[in-house]
Amino acid sequence: MTKITDPMFTDEAEARKVVEGIRWPQGPVCGRCGETVRRYPTKREGRYRCGNPGCRKDFTVTTGTVMESSHIKLNKWLLGFYLVSSSKKGMSAHQLHRMLGVTYKTGWFMHHRIREAMRAGGLVPPMGGEGAIVEADETYFGKVEEPKSLRSDGRPYSKSGARGPANKRAIVSLVERDGSVRSFHVPRADLHSVTRIVNENIARETRLMTDESRLYTRVGKEFASHETVVHSAKEYARGDVHTNTVEGYFSIFKRGMRGVYQHCSEKHLHRYLAEFDFRYNARKITDGERAALAVKGAEGKRLTYRQPD
Ligand SMILES: [Zn+2]
Repeated sequence: MTKITDPMFTDEAEARKVVEGIRWPQGPVCGRCGETVRRYPTKREGRYRCGNPGCRKDFTVTTGTVMESSHIKLNKWLLGFYLVSSSKKGMSAHQLHRMLGVTYKTGWFMHHRIREAMRAGGLVPPMGGEGAIVEADETYFGKVEEPKSLRSDGRPYSKSGARGPANKRAIVSLVERDGSVRSFHVPRADLHSVTRIVNENIARETRLMTDESRLYTRVGKEFASHETVVHSAKEYARGDVHTNTVEGYFSIFKRGMRGVYQHCSEKHLHRYLAEFDFRYNARKITDGERAALAVKGAEGKRLTYRQPD
């Protein structure tokens, strides 16, 4: 059992050993050129020198990660990763600031970096496959910063009007039954964006399940089957046909966002989604394993925020 009083969360050298074990199971790897053999420890604890003639740079376990060139001690980073990974509903920058004993601003910068580490990167294989079910749905959360126009009769676009409320942020999520979730913040959940997301992320052999929204009618023909429940007729499930999994995911997201992240600006929404997706996708492993997975995700990602301290 991992506890927040563990030495890796209070002692920088202990934290370094743990992070090195997670990132470098086969020994140090140069974070600048990828050298795995010609590298040597320097006199400074945790600092290595690359022996690749084209590189010859110094590096540490945080080089080339979201933690690079930060003055925050590694044990605080590790505790931050652990807290954000293990808290069911998420954790605010304020809570991080109090629990880590860093300034609010530092807590905020750390939080964004940790979330960036949780974002799925690189080439991800399609969801679903033969016999698998993927549910797709869209939802709306929080006001957009620049409201879009209403319909000509002055009412907001409705679900059946295929646009959704004009002044809300649109989110499209795909959830595989007993599997993982992928969420997308789109300017509009319209035919174009929904078709692209569904096409790019779901294997053709999959059974696609949605509500009666017309957004999915055309793209649905590409899949093994496209089955729908008619929510407007109070039909929520027919045999194994339903969208309860994706709706359950939306309610976790909204509860968490209301409780913790009242002031999420729209340009960061995709990162909040990445955090909730990450926790959902790692729900079957322990808190400690989930934190290690997030630390591994810190590789190859940099945020260009100015350093807070
Ligand atoms: Zn190198």
